[in-house]
Amino acid sequence: MELIPFKEKVWLSSPTMHGDELRYVTEAYETNWMSTVGANINEIEEAISKKIGVEGAVALSAGTSALHLAMKLAGVKPGDEVLCSDMTFSATVNPVVYEGGVPVFVDSEYDSWNMDPVALERAFELHPGAKVVVLAHLYGTPAKIDEIRAICDAHGAYLVEDAAESLGATFKGQETGSFGNVGVISFNGNKIITGSSGGMLLTHSEADANRVRKWSTQSRENAPWYQHEELGYNYRMSNVIAGVIRGQLPYLDEHIAQKKAIYERYQEGLKGSPVSMNPIPQDSEPNYWLSCMIIDPDAMAPHVRGEQEPLYRTELGKSSPTEILEAIAAINAEGRPIWKPMHLQPIFRMNPFVTREGDGRCLTNAYIAGGSVGADGKPMDVGADIFQRGLCLPSDNKMTPSQQDKIIEVIEGCFA
Ligand SMILES: *Cc1c(COP(=O)(O)O)cnc(C)c1O
Repeated sequence: MELIPFKEKVWLSSPTMHGDELRYVTEAYETNWMSTVGANINEIEEAISKKIGVEGAVALSAGTSALHLAMKLAGVKPGDEVLCSDMTFSATVNPVVYEGGVPVFVDSEYDSWNMDPVALERAFELHPGAKVVVLAHLYGTPAKIDEIRAICDAHGAYLVEDAAESLGATFKGQETGSFGNVGVISFNGNKIITGSSGGMLLTHSEADANRVRKWSTQSRENAPWYQHEELGYNYRMSNVIAGVIRGQLPYLDEHIAQKKAIYERYQEGLKGSPVSMNPIPQDSEPNYWLSCMIIDPDAMAPHVRGEQEPLYRTELGKSSPTEILEAIAAINAEGRPIWKPMHLQPIFRMNPFVTREGDGRCLTNAYIAGGSVGADGKPMDVGADIFQRGLCLPSDNKMTPSQQDKIIEVIEGCFA
């Protein structure tokens, strides 16, 4: 196979501007609304609350700041156990710790790669004091949110829905971000639409929206001087950033369609290889933010990861995520390992971790579901297994079909 690297790098997921962004930024500039107040902020709050179907949307500096204020709305206090998605980006769970809470990680399921409702039910049994759940929709694919919502309701728990990666994805026709007591979206540079940075908190309560707006602007009371009754934060979005997002919003559906076409091209192209794409559960319509794949257990070549670097061997007819990522990188395209589960992160090594059976970190059900065995010969939990066998593929909406075909060819070549 001839391997001429792409002249321009094919990214995992990069920003795509359309022109209107500059118009709204210029408008902010020319009217001197270079502030955390202005028409762009008002417009995008209105547009997003309408699109997602919530009472209030509050524009903030980042998805992470939105998650932090969500923890405050949820009433997380020092020492409180909070049940969290395990296979996610660390920003989902760090805000729990900002408020002194203790993340309890809940294993993933093979159906959606998201929080396993069975493991969540078990987590409530093992941690009956938990009153808050933080759920992420990984890679833009909705979790089994109706089951998870019902379990939360049965236990009187508050649900924080991290839809940072899933803007525009729906479950049974309802937008992600609208199922939780509070929802969060992100406009970070790698997300499906972007402001270069930025985020939003979504709520069904106008009163909560106003509390969050107040907290995010230093908790100023209604007085002629700076008067404070509560702790404040500088978390409000800039009107300049909001201008970029205002220009991007009309292109959300177009970006989703492009990402969906990329997912389907991989699915078709990789049919002959011993891999599957990240699953799409029934009733879900993802936004296809990232296309991912997972290698069949019996097509896995030896592959281990230390704390800093991987080690693998090549074998006839077999491959590993590291071998494939290196092969993709060699043609100037960017893939990435699956987000390393939180229970495997050194910073969270002492936190509880709940699987659907067993005592965590060593799960018999991974065998039943066709999962694989870790370097120590023990069956792995679902999150560790997906991390071991899976990877994120180049998913940039500016990637051409012929570039994608070449990437597919390189992946096939790894199993030769
Ligand atoms: C990006 C991301 C966040 C954080 O959003 P920022 O806007 O970057 O702060 C939170 N959770 C998940 C799952 C994300 O992917």
